[in-house]
Amino acid sequence: MKQEFSIPSLAAQLATEADAYLFLEKLRWGGSPDACPQCGAMGRCSYLTPANGASRKTRTGSISQRRVWFCGHCRKQFSVLTNTVFHGTKIPIRTWVFVIFEICASKNGISTREIERKYELTPKTAWFMSMRLREAMRTDPLIGLMSGTIVADETWIGGDPKNRHGARYGKGTKGQTDKQPVLSLILKESGEVRSQVVPTVRGPHLRQVIDAQVDVANSDLHTDSAKVYIGMGEDFANHESVNHFKAEYVRGDVSTNQAENYFSQLKRSLDGTHHAVSVEHLPRYLAQFDFMYTHCDDTDSQRMRTLLRRVGGRRLTYKPLTAG
Ligand SMILES: [Zn+2]
Repeated sequence: MKQEFSIPSLAAQLATEADAYLFLEKLRWGGSPDACPQCGAMGRCSYLTPANGASRKTRTGSISQRRVWFCGHCRKQFSVLTNTVFHGTKIPIRTWVFVIFEICASKNGISTREIERKYELTPKTAWFMSMRLREAMRTDPLIGLMSGTIVADETWIGGDPKNRHGARYGKGTKGQTDKQPVLSLILKESGEVRSQVVPTVRGPHLRQVIDAQVDVANSDLHTDSAKVYIGMGEDFANHESVNHFKAEYVRGDVSTNQAENYFSQLKRSLDGTHHAVSVEHLPRYLAQFDFMYTHCDDTDSQRMRTLLRRVGGRRLTYKPLTAG
């Protein structure tokens, strides 16, 4: 399929930093902003043309091609980066656009080391960039509940892969302390997946996540035969399970195969591309895999557009990221 964007087409389009700003303005705003990103006022934004037509001097005296807008309501200046995950970045916007494209185009994710080498960045900068983009991939908490047929399944992430098998249901959790349980909920009809780190795979912890993400009364639940789902299954419109212990993996349209498939991709990628993801940063990696899986039928360009629609209203600073 012919892609809207590709590395050569982006390279041709983004000759200068001003081009890169324009590119983001087009994708995020469709050209010009409707609302001020600082005060939210509608229809009061105007572009400030630089005196020399191309660039302006910054406070520090350097020359910048940043495209600056002005809000007639709060009387503050802003750019397409204001109040987004790009806020305060010192990395060229051209570099950001290329990295975004590469992340959206790679099924298993692109490692921080790869970004570092390809774009001649420091390890710290490359790491922070990928973390900011994962933040943008995170599902909007206000997106609403999933409703339909929900496949729920848990897995353990981390630790020695040799010890992973056969201890999935919270029984015999001895020796599992280095692993983190993760619950994934997949909406069968659309393929949307939402994953979350959970403290344990016991009922109350799973239920808390399910209630926050699913319209339980109006949804069907598909699980394996883990006992933990039996009670909560009664609150769903319908609950079907397949019994893996009796080697039953599919019955009619009931299976947890989608979740198994998701987990195997996730683990392959965590093992292969992103070595040793710490528990602390696991939620952001899950956000990335949820995003890629949910949009797996889209083209790379569509995924890039989707991601850029989500960069607003989210900021990530270095401090909270590394604290604790
Ligand atoms: Zn304003």
